[in-house]
Order: sequence, then C-alpha cells, then structure tokens
Amino acid sequence: PDEIGVGELASRMKKTGAEVVKCLIKNGVMASLSDVIDFDTAAIIAEELGCKVEKEIIVTIEERLIDVSEDKEEDLRPRAPVVVVMGHVDHGKTSLLDYIRSSDVASGEAGGITQHIGAYQVSVKGQPITFLDTPGHEAFTAMRARGAMITDVAILVVAADDGIMPQTVESINHAKAAGIPIIVAINKMDKPEANPERIKQQLTEYELVPEEWGGETIICPISAKTGMGVDSLLEMVLLTAEMQELRANPDRSAHGAVIEARLDKGRGPVATLLVQNGTLHQGDVIIAGTAVGRVRAMTNARGQKLTEAGPSVPVEIIGMGEVPGAGDDFHAVADERMARELVEQRKQENKDRLNGPVGQKVTLEDLFSQ
Ligand code: GDP
Ligand code: MG
Repeated sequence: PDEIGVGELASRMKKTGAEVVKCLIKNGVMASLSDVIDFDTAAIIAEELGCKVEKEIIVTIEERLIDVSEDKEEDLRPRAPVVVVMGHVDHGKTSLLDYIRSSDVASGEAGGITQHIGAYQVSVKGQPITFLDTPGHEAFTAMRARGAMITDVAILVVAADDGIMPQTVESINHAKAAGIPIIVAINKMDKPEANPERIKQQLTEYELVPEEWGGETIICPISAKTGMGVDSLLEMVLLTAEMQELRANPDRSAHGAVIEARLDKGRGPVATLLVQNGTLHQGDVIIAGTAVGRVRAMTNARGQKLTEAGPSVPVEIIGMGEVPGAGDDFHAVADERMARELVEQRKQENKDRLNGPVGQKVTLEDLFSQ
C-alpha cells in the first residue's frame, strides 16, 4: 500500500503535525492529520521539510550532505597514531610534551615546532606521531562524553617520586573506557627519591601488569627534565601503534574533530582540527557542530602554510563563521547552502533537545509496514 497517514509521516520525520499539514496546503493538498496521502505526495513534503526520498529511502539533509560510507579495503593507507598524554597534575605531562616538541626542533626537521595549536606531529625514525597538546584535555573529555574517540594510544605519566593519584586513576579509566592501549611513563627518574618499583606495584591494582612481571603493560622510565628514556618511549608508541594497523582513506572528503577553537581579534574564529579520515583542502566548506565556514588558510604547528592535510594531521584553520566547540565533529561538505540549512536544523534541535532525537532515517518499509 503506497500511502501513509499524515500524522504518521510527521512523526517519522520528527516534525509537528502542523508543519506537515501547512506544507501540504502550500502544495495544494487539503489534508488533515488523520488523512492518508500517497507516497509521491509524502516524498515531496518530506523533501520540502529537509528529508529526501532516495530510491526507497527518505533521508535527512544530514545524510544527503555527509558521506558516512565505509571505505573500501584497497583505499586504506597507513596513518600516524594519535597520542594523548594523561596523568595526575604536576606529574609532568606538560614537561613531556614540551620536551618532545623541543627535541623535534633540535632534530633539525624543517621548521621546528614553534606554534601552539593544540596538536603537533613529530617524526621518530621517519615515522610520524601526532600528539594532542591541549591543556586539561578538554577536547578529549568532550569527545569521550560523545563516545567518539580520536586517540589511538594513551601515555600515562606517573611521577616516580609520588605514585598513583586520583587523576591517574581517572586517566586509566578514561583510556580503558575508550579501549585504547596505555603506555606508562614513569617520570622524574632523575630525582633521587624516585621509586619505580613502588609505582609498578601500584599499577597492578589497576590491571596494568608490567611486561617484566608477565603482564602486557609497557612501562618506560623517563625524565621529562633530562630527556632520559623519551626516545625509547616514542619507539614504544610506534610499536604499539604498529600492532593496531591504523589506516585511513586519504581520497575522500575530510572528517575529524575540533581539538581547540577560539576567537582571534584579527583573524576571527580560529580552530585546530584533527583530520581523522579523508583529506582537508584549502577552500573546503566545512561544518563543525553548529558552525559553518570555508577553510581560508591552514597552518601546522611549525607555522607552515598547507594547502591540504591528510589523515592524522592536525591543522589550524581560519574561515569559520563562528567558533566551533572543542570536541565537535567536523565534515568537509560539497554544498555550502545545504550546510547552512543543516546548521540551522542543528541549532533548532539543540533547542528542542528535550523532545528527543531528530533526523531518523525512514525506509518505505518502516513507513508502510504497520
Ligand atoms: P603537569 O601538571 O602534569 O603538566 O606537570 P608539569 O609538566 O607542569 O610538571 C610539574 C613540575 O614537575 C614542574 O615543576 C616540572 O619542572 C617538574 N618536572 C616534570 N618532569 C620532571 C622530571 O622528569 N624531573 C624533575 N626533576 N622534575 C620534573
Ligand atoms: Mg600541565
């Protein structure tokens, strides 16, 4: 039966009955909520209200705009691991990130890392590693809350002269919930009071059993102050990442996550994006949460201008119409007008959040099976 009740259509599209009836009248169909209309009419109404009929499926603007298709095996290429450094306050997270950043400067790589953009990439024995470098890891926390993960490996920093503290435990729980491997860096080994054996003992209480004790947890004694052990820590990161066989498809429109964003007086909204799949190009239209814009310029943490950024590459961009939220997803899209429409819809949805989710896909089968 190729027909559907007006009320039913409205609820399938998560629209009010009044919206649908109004749209019907606009199209010359005098129908009320209790009437039944044919599918062709339903399809026209759906389209006008931001849903679309494609073959046998009514899709939302979001689905028309954002490509979520799976990548084909043969299109996948290796990508750099994305690493987050976690741990209790004062255990040395910032010092470790600073050391890695500055040792890369010393390594003589073209253009040392001079800009603080919230994420940077270094190369270890010719292999790239991406580090998130955001204080407080707001983005990480926001993304975790959404169930979306952007990091592949966690380095857990524990000070050898202190031990496992509340935020250490919190970090362990975060990483475990995210399902990412934890590499433990026992830091401040240069201090005379360092007691790594005690830390290892404590770690076993959290199911982090050192390899040397028959477990699977990689433990690296380091000093973020002197740099002792940092090289082998980075090698362990690469080794761990290698086992994950991290891959992505550079040949599709980019999507990823907003790592940091702020309003710059001169340049307008500035956002650091981490590309997770596809390639982001200068000039691309992107949508991030409820912000839309065109990538006017891209730079990396070395201050270099880029025209494109592939998977696992962090870039700072300008050109967004407003400041997106840290942790928001971003997508490069083909149609700016539709992107603006989607943003309006999302803003509306945020307002009606309490009324339940919006934009479900509706198949004809769904429509007509009852
Ligand atoms: P965060 O809060 O985890 O980011 O910790 P910081 O990196 O800010 O470090 C806290 C304090 O510990 C600072 O005074 C650092 O200089 C010091 N610190 C960090 N790493 C080491 C280390 O390996 N050895 C020594 N002796 N001090 C360190
Ligand atoms: Mg810090």
